[in-house]
Amino acid sequence: MKTPTLLENISTVYKRMSHAAMRAGRDPEEVKLIAVTKTVGVEQIREAMDAGLRIFGENRVQEAKAKIEELARLSTANFRLPTMEWHLIGHLQRNKAKYAVQLFDLIHSVDSVELAREISKHSEKIGKVQRVLVEVKLSPEETKHGVDRRNLMPVLAEVASMKYLLLRGLMAIPPFSENPEDARRYFKALRELRDAAQDCGIPLPELSMGMSGDFEVAIEEGATMVRVGTAIFGERK
Ligand SMILES: *Cc1c(COP(=O)(O)O)cnc(C)c1O
Repeated sequence: MKTPTLLENISTVYKRMSHAAMRAGRDPEEVKLIAVTKTVGVEQIREAMDAGLRIFGENRVQEAKAKIEELARLSTANFRLPTMEWHLIGHLQRNKAKYAVQLFDLIHSVDSVELAREISKHSEKIGKVQRVLVEVKLSPEETKHGVDRRNLMPVLAEVASMKYLLLRGLMAIPPFSENPEDARRYFKALRELRDAAQDCGIPLPELSMGMSGDFEVAIEEGATMVRVGTAIFGERK
């Protein structure tokens, strides 16, 4: 079988997203596609931009910096690249917060008050209000990072009160499973935590959840951002 082209993959992902939204009675426009470009080269990112993608997610600060700078060099007086958004989706070390605020429109992975303070401090220095999500750890077998759900409310209250941060929502990565239905209860749990926080007066419009293997289930459960790599760019080497 012929491997599908990047354009075909993007088309398929968009259609699957729309259908999932409609199944859940949601407006497909509510769900943003974050194209995850870790390990993907600048040439392919260009192709994805030409195909209409505008939001890109990277999980490492250094790798993102190199690509963003290389892409910037493609813009000349006669040719402007379209405006893109870059999101940090991977774990952020405190000592890289300074670079993260220079590079990213949204940081999905705030997992402690200390990290939030560091980001806020560097945002103030460059005169920026940094948009962030708080990453939640929903189960012990999940990734190492994320705020324990039992501590979530006080952490959200603190992050929301920081002057140079704008808390926009929550992010989570459920434990890996071959069966996307296994992730449903985690996505539902994240939505319920969001609703509980909103009931306490903390607005959290964004839910970043769902990857190549389970983004449709995530959309059915309320995702507003899905982070999709493999289904767009193919298997990572
Ligand atoms: C790599 C990555 C993704 C995308 O994973 P795919 O399965 O390739 O879609 C999403 N979120 C995070 C945090 C990642 O590191």
